[in-house]
Amino acid sequence: MEWWYHLPLIVSCVWVFVLGLGVGSFLNVLIVRLPFEKSIIWPGSRCGHCLRPIRLLDNLPIIGYLRLRGRCRFCQATFSSRYLWVELGTGLAFLALFGIEIVTQGYGGALGLTPWQDVPGLRNGSGALGAFPPVSAWIYFFYHATLLSLLIASAVIDAEHRIIPLPITYTGTLIGLIGSTLLPWPWPSDPSVLQAIPAGFPWTLPEAGASIPTGATLWPFAGPPPDWAPAGSWKLGLLNGLIGAAAGMFVGRSIKFLFEVGLGRPALGLGDADLLMMAGAFLGWQPAVLALPVGSLVTLPIILPLMAWAKLRGRGSGNELPFGPGIAAGVVVVWLGWPLFGELTRILFDPVMVGLIAFIMGGGMLVAGLIIGKPSEPTSPSERKPQQEAASSA
Ligand SMILES: [Zn+2]
Repeated sequence: MEWWYHLPLIVSCVWVFVLGLGVGSFLNVLIVRLPFEKSIIWPGSRCGHCLRPIRLLDNLPIIGYLRLRGRCRFCQATFSSRYLWVELGTGLAFLALFGIEIVTQGYGGALGLTPWQDVPGLRNGSGALGAFPPVSAWIYFFYHATLLSLLIASAVIDAEHRIIPLPITYTGTLIGLIGSTLLPWPWPSDPSVLQAIPAGFPWTLPEAGASIPTGATLWPFAGPPPDWAPAGSWKLGLLNGLIGAAAGMFVGRSIKFLFEVGLGRPALGLGDADLLMMAGAFLGWQPAVLALPVGSLVTLPIILPLMAWAKLRGRGSGNELPFGPGIAAGVVVVWLGWPLFGELTRILFDPVMVGLIAFIMGGGMLVAGLIIGKPSEPTSPSERKPQQEAASSA
């Protein structure tokens, strides 16, 4: 096999990475301006210190930052390294998403790797190996890359400011509803693949699992879609998006309520519920319901030591949990992992199991609120100082 055989793949990957850098540059604008409710269009990029506009070439992702070593060309004020990391991170995230969803599909097939040429809905018309991904594969990628970009911006802003701006989540929910309507499940797979499941066969049984395809949105229901909204119809797509958004709103607000009852004071912003609503509009109800518990499992081992460290150094009260990054990570894990969870995901079609999970989640948030809400040591800085001095002199 000659190297040029892979040329379309290499060109596609480079293009996706560069696109991610450019999008990351735009996300930086959102991250800097949205928390202060500034316009994201006007004025153009400028130095936050001397307010002089940034030249076009200096504004290039990564290159502009590295060439000037992160400083303003005119007044030498340093720019936050976050600009660099958000650009690079978005570029790498786009590349990873393209690799998982389009190049390998990651699931099924020999060795668990099925290139796009072998995935029914994403297959090239010519079927030729070494060809560029077809248009359907690009649409599939752009839809998910849009969600990924909104999640990155929300996570970074929440980590810095403990807020998730409405323009991101509300615009995102609208884009998600339009997308899930235009790309109804099981797109890009053909709805006829569902005929492999006999009529009246419960989807909760393992035998059905192999025949239920994952589309750009996840499996919508615990059974065949209703007659008035058949698989692949815009009605099913819109219904799926609306149920997802409603599920996110409901779960987010319930968790906020229970956590704050336990804690005894307001803690979670409604931005977290809005973030779940946006993910539900894009993908369906599954990530909206599962993102917080899954995200907690993924991020708490990282966040808790960081919080403990901050507490040791006397920074912050250590009681403020940024839920945004955790929810964003949970959405990504549920969405990309959905086809891999396979058998496990089927329990979500069982009302008893869903009730049990809801009970555990709700109770868990209540208990978590109670534990965090009763600090065993004084938390205000003035009370802590004498302790620290005692510790350092000892
Ligand atoms: Zn300047």
